Amino acid sequence: MSDCIFCKIINREIPSKSVYETEKVYAFHDINPEAPFHVLIVPKEHIGSHNELTPDNVGIMKDIHLAANEIARQLGIAESGYRLINNCGADAGQTVFHLHYHLVGGKSMGTKIL
Ligand code: 5GP
Ligand code: ZN
Repeated sequence: MSDCIFCKIINREIPSKSVYETEKVYAFHDINPEAPFHVLIVPKEHIGSHNELTPDNVGIMKDIHLAANEIARQLGIAESGYRLINNCGADAGQTVFHLHYHLVGGKSMGTKIL
């Protein structure tokens, strides 16, 4: 997708602070962190949102979740805890329409989801 900001980040047309990369997944620090650790995990394939997951492309979720585990270990927050957040659509506040998971941690976020 030529006008997608995360595709441009994946293609290194826009710089980012890399955290983790495989053939299928890229992870980088969020430009506007909302916690001591705030990493975005994205599939290299352009998928617009969680709504666009299908039986054909949902295999990427395995890679995203395993990436999250590895990144949490690397950041030293696997045991203290973290949240893995996906915003899907307008009401959820999705602003970039390339599927991504926010991995946030490094502070206590309490027991409320919202
Ligand atoms: P959303 O609201 O769509 O779930 O989250 C999009 C996230 O992308 C936001 O947390 C925002 O700070 C982050 N973001 C937007 N543009 C850039 C960018 O150019 N570089 C990086 N590293 N993060 C970005
Ligand atoms: Zn994209």
